Amino acid sequence: MSINIVIAGPRGRMGQEAVDMVLEEPTFTLVGCIDRKEQQIPKLAERSIPTYTNAEECFYALDVDVMIDLTVAESSYHHILLALQQNISCVVGTTGFSEEQLGEIKRVALDNNTGCIIAPNFAIGAILMMHFSKIAAKFFSDVEIIEKHHDQKIDAPSGTAIKTAEMIKSIRKSKKQGHPDEVETLKGVRGAVMDGIPIHSVRLPGLVAHQEVMLGGVGETLTIKHDSINRKSFMEGIKLSIRRVIERKEFIYGLENVLDLE
Ligand code: NAP
Repeated sequence: MSINIVIAGPRGRMGQEAVDMVLEEPTFTLVGCIDRKEQQIPKLAERSIPTYTNAEECFYALDVDVMIDLTVAESSYHHILLALQQNISCVVGTTGFSEEQLGEIKRVALDNNTGCIIAPNFAIGAILMMHFSKIAAKFFSDVEIIEKHHDQKIDAPSGTAIKTAEMIKSIRKSKKQGHPDEVETLKGVRGAVMDGIPIHSVRLPGLVAHQEVMLGGVGETLTIKHDSINRKSFMEGIKLSIRRVIERKEFIYGLENVLDLE
């Protein structure tokens, strides 16, 4: 059975990849898109796929199973609540929701018995990198995180770096690393410190999304490294989530809770 999909944000970098992924996947049908601009997107117009500027109209006009949202938190929050109220499942890659917004989305999903998966990182390799780092930190308590992104990224450090530090924190006691009398002769050169873990953010054109977790022990180091070489890396996680959100009408935050990691 084909899954009818609507994509919000088809003009964006992630949205364009999602359009291609859905068009290429034989068990998915792209029935429409939600875009804030009236201008037609040639790839959609050629296939007579309608685009709506009003999400409510879109959900009333089309037979939709899943909405994928790849926009900004403000518009995504609005799209998600409307979709869930129409029993349309949601797969959301948009980042930047507040705790209150996430709480309200969860409540509306449960009230309407409709699935919603929100994942700040849909790259399966990135989830494994965080998982392996947490395991490694049981044995190596000295850790530094180096995250590298394209120079158009506004926030630093990345959500993935913060999440990695939080996961490591959950299994080790906070400690000050390095020499107790360490002095920065150039301010910030040792990175920003979260729970004793230095995080270093690199921003350069040409990069997509990359992270290294370096762990140091007695006479050895271990580096766990992940590279998203292009935005296709996020599409496998989105595909898995579409299938999962249809099967299980749950609210899930984080791709790690979709993958069977144990
Ligand atoms: P992008 O290229 O800037 O695209 C954002 C899209 O959202 C554009 O189509 C933009 O429309 C649209 N948009 C912006 N404000 C809007 C509004 N108020 N109402 C409706 N649409 C609006 O960004 P991107 O790199 O594709 O990223 C999209 C989202 O995914 C971001 O939240 C980003 O952090 C997140 N992300 C998630 C993952 C993951 O794995 N979960 C990975 C990468 C990025 P215009 O073209 O008109 O501006």
